[in-house]
Amino acid sequence: MIDFWNKRYNEDGFAYGTNPNAFFKEQIDKLKVGNLLLPLEGEGRNAVYAASKGWKVDAVDQSEIGHDKTRKFAKENNLNYDVCGKIVVAINEEESKRLDQLKINGEQNGLVGLKLLTPEEFQKIEPNVDGVKALWVPESGIIDYKGITNKFADKVKSINSESLIITDCEVKDYKENQIKTSKGIYKSKHIIFCGGLFADRLAAKDKVKLEMQIVGFRGDYYELSERAKRKVNNLIYPVPNPEFPFLGVHFTRMIEGGIEAGPNAVLAFK
Ligand SMILES: Cc1cc2nc3c(=O)[nH]c(=O)nc-3n(C[C@H](O)[C@H](O)[C@H](O)COP(=O)(O)OP(=O)(O)OC[C@H]3O[C@@H](n4cnc5c(N)ncnc54)[C@H](O)[C@@H]3O)c2cc1C
Repeated sequence: MIDFWNKRYNEDGFAYGTNPNAFFKEQIDKLKVGNLLLPLEGEGRNAVYAASKGWKVDAVDQSEIGHDKTRKFAKENNLNYDVCGKIVVAINEEESKRLDQLKINGEQNGLVGLKLLTPEEFQKIEPNVDGVKALWVPESGIIDYKGITNKFADKVKSINSESLIITDCEVKDYKENQIKTSKGIYKSKHIIFCGGLFADRLAAKDKVKLEMQIVGFRGDYYELSERAKRKVNNLIYPVPNPEFPFLGVHFTRMIEGGIEAGPNAVLAFK
């Protein structure tokens, strides 16, 4: 059966066109946006339509050619992402053993298609990389997070046009339903902070006594020059050492086209 669909989807153009199925469109337009699972989704015309309307879509199909076309279609519709895959490279025997464990961990976490590669094999993916072994992670990708965040902001506004989205603003203090910020005082029935590495400081303002404190590390990245960019195709990572809290220096292709190399790790005292 899979051969039938691969043959069908391998033809030029889209087997069923790029517009969503009329019945699907009629039904989905009536529903409140949410999560959507589309099994046997073929070339993705319905998935892309639903995603453009704000649905969080998981689309699956047994035909890998269908997958490829779905991604291409998503790109053409400005849903900017690229499932380009990643290699994690071991440079000695000790790292090679940790890489075997990393593959097991990845599989236990549901990653599909993980493969250990010899130098000859991984150099076909990244010709300028040297090492003893690599783990190929085909599901890794890059995405336009700035675009996604702006889309979230649009959605918040579309739910209630009176919603305020305030940026470049520091929360100085808060009391009950009042938040004092660098841009004025706001009132809210509920306050949820997503303060990342500042979460302990925000919690302290709420008189919470913590037995731990976050010690931040800052990481600087270099951007590769035009000449150096040609040496990296996608994502190249070292094998993490669980003894240390750092990921290690890696090369990351960004969705806008640049390639970053880093980070270093310096204590962030502020
Ligand atoms: C260099 C680096 C590379 C990474 N790469 C990846 C990656 O490739 N993939 C991945 O999955 N994860 C990656 N991570 C981890 C990922 O970025 C974090 O896990 C994630 O951002 C945490 O999200 P968060 O919303 O909890 O916190 P954050 O993203 O840190 O958001 C917290 C926000 O709160 C704001 N804030 C804090 N205090 C205040 C205040 N008083 N007033 C106003 N605003 C305040 C901060 O400015 C910040 O914008 C990376 C992290 C780093 C540092």
